[in-house]
Amino acid sequence: MPVQTGWKPVLRWKYAANFLSVDIMTEAVWKSARFRFYEELNDFLPPERRKKEFDYTFREHPAVKDPIEALGVPHTEVDLILVNGKSVAFDYQLQDSDRVSVYPVFESLDISPLVRLRPGPLRHPAFVLDVHLGKLARLLRMLGFDTDYRNDFSDPELVRISTEEQRTLLTRDRRLFFFRAVSRGYWLRHTDPEKQLREVLDRFDLYTQIEPFRRCIVCNGPLQKVEKAAVLDQLEPLTRRYYRLFRQCATCRKIYWRGTHFHHMNRMLNKTRRWARDRRV
Ligand SMILES: [Zn+2]
Repeated sequence: MPVQTGWKPVLRWKYAANFLSVDIMTEAVWKSARFRFYEELNDFLPPERRKKEFDYTFREHPAVKDPIEALGVPHTEVDLILVNGKSVAFDYQLQDSDRVSVYPVFESLDISPLVRLRPGPLRHPAFVLDVHLGKLARLLRMLGFDTDYRNDFSDPELVRISTEEQRTLLTRDRRLFFFRAVSRGYWLRHTDPEKQLREVLDRFDLYTQIEPFRRCIVCNGPLQKVEKAAVLDQLEPLTRRYYRLFRQCATCRKIYWRGTHFHHMNRMLNKTRRWARDRRV
């Protein structure tokens, strides 16, 4: 050890003793677990923590949900947690030296022998969208999906609707998932509405449930067949002349026919067929 001039031996000993006592205390209080996040959960982590094991130090015995969210991953994105190879619930108390593997929501994989943290896959898909997702809301409704959206929903309203009506909350704002009550949610990676639509169809495996001309694009109300004679006085002259088949929204009374909407819808349907095909390859 190099001689440190000016330091008396007794002083050195005093400092060493202080460090020693700090070390002993530290060892008693801090614990460490190894975490590994899988698949798209890595999107929430800084690059140096993606797709590899890393140590997480903690005190006491926090519920495993706490470090997962402290590391930036919303609990709504997590479907399965394995600790030392066994599946655990969010309230599992983390122990020293635990190895924790965290998996995203698998909508299309069978992991039934293990404990899933989410309710089952979306057999009756229903969504609520945050205030910035108006274009995505129209596209989802166009394909027949039950989509609640208003451009003035507050954050607590979105959380309440998602919870009470069991709707999956779609958002680009991760903060919303840190509300404890939210159990169904998905953070959209893309900003372009058509790419967002594809993300949702892929993520929740919805291609077989597309049913156009079922919902009103404006208000999400159900569309019903209506006789032309019943709506004749509400039609423009050219529409009255060229179209025979009509549907009407049961909620806002808007009338639909195979005009301009139809071409846009057909284009979207062709796209979704291509996406579904690409997905199977
Ligand atoms: Zn309507």
